[in-house]
Parts: sequence; structure tokens; C-alpha cells
Amino acid sequence: MSDPAKVLLATRNAKKLGELRRILEPLVSVTVLGLDDVAEYEEVPETGATFAENALLKAREGAKHTGLVTVADDSGLEVDALNGMPGVLSARWAGRHGDDEANLKLVLAQLGDTPDDRRGGRFVCAAALASPSGVEHVELGTMPGRLIREPVGANGFGYDPIFVPEGQPTASGVPADRTSAELDPAEKDAISHRSAALRALLPFLLEQFPSR
Ligand code: IMP
Repeated sequence: MSDPAKVLLATRNAKKLGELRRILEPLVSVTVLGLDDVAEYEEVPETGATFAENALLKAREGAKHTGLVTVADDSGLEVDALNGMPGVLSARWAGRHGDDEANLKLVLAQLGDTPDDRRGGRFVCAAALASPSGVEHVELGTMPGRLIREPVGANGFGYDPIFVPEGQPTASGVPADRTSAELDPAEKDAISHRSAALRALLPFLLEQFPSR
């Protein structure tokens, strides 16, 4: 049997890669590679004004440098009381890229004593596909919820410990207001913005690869 086809997921974030693999691999006959599995190339700065622009920039660069069909995502947290910020600046809200703890503390401080009924927000994800032959497509997914006042939970990453998603799985004895850092990976996958965006992208990926 020939080697399965390969798709590049243009990320170095192991948790994201795991999340994306769990979603894609059962559905599509491909081996999913991350940026650490391919020859290094200069990554583009995320200069887009929207999640969709940034995701497409990253997917296009990946396809260009590796010759592989590339999926990239760009995501972040939109807080209603902060007029949709941190938005595309989520990863560097406190100034230094990827300092999750500082970012989360800054958002909590900015919300200050904002009352519970005005602490709504959502995670948003754009998932983009780009092929070496020039096929491009972007889909958006969201996970609505609300922000609490203190971090709770050790799973996930980023703003997960201060975000209580709507529509989370409930079972007897399990509280209905867990943060996304208290959900196990499969529970988060079932409702996450990234899963929603990737699932919406799947038909377009399936056009590139044989399905299982
Ligand atoms: P990206 O890596 O450019 O997509 O930036 C995403 C940033 O948004 C991360 O650094 C996190 O701060 C935040 N973020 C995106 N998705 C999630 C999530 O599922 N949980 C928590 N934070 C997230």
C-alpha cells in the first residue's frame, strides 16, 4: 500500500496539534504533520486584521514552502465588554507573544468589577485551507460563553481557565458551569470553536484527500 497522503497543520502548539489531529485523523485518510515535522521555513508575521486573513496567510505560506496541502488556524477571544478585544491580539494582549498567564490576568483586570450579566464573550477560530495548486478556503467557528473572575482548571491553554462555555456536556453530579480548562479534551472538542471551524472545512479537505 502506498504511503498515506500528508497534510500540514501550520502550528507548533502541541495542544492545538493534538486537538486538530483528534478531529481530522478519524475522518480523513491523511497523516497530519506539524511545523516541527517539516523543513523549517520563515514564518509570516500575523499582520491580518481578521482571524480569516491570518489563517489564510499561514496556510498559503505553508503550502508554498512545503508543497503540501496546508491547514492553518487563527483564533482568539472576543470579550463583549471590551468591544470584541483582545480578538486577533489574543496571543500577545499583555505585550509578549504567548504569555498566557499575563494575557489572562490583564483581561481579568480590564473587566474589573464588570457585572456578571455583562461578562459575555466567545472564542472564535478561522480555519483555512490552501493547496499548492492554489485552492483556498476559510471557515469560521465560535464557542460562546462568559468570563469568570478567577482562573479555575488545569486543562487547555490560553484563556481557558477564565472562560465558561455555553452548551457544555453535563452529567449527573458534574457542575454545568465548568471552565473550558476543566473540560477533558474530548468534551472541549465537542463544542470548541476550533472543532466547529475544522468540521466546516472538512468537505473542502475531503476534496483534496480520500475519506476513510
Ligand atoms: P493563535 O495561536 O494566533 O491562534 O492565537 C490564539 C490565542 O488565542 C492563544 O494564544 C490564546 O490566548 C487564545 N485562544 C485561542 N483558542 C483558545 C482556546 O481554545 N482556549 C484558550 N485560549 C485560546
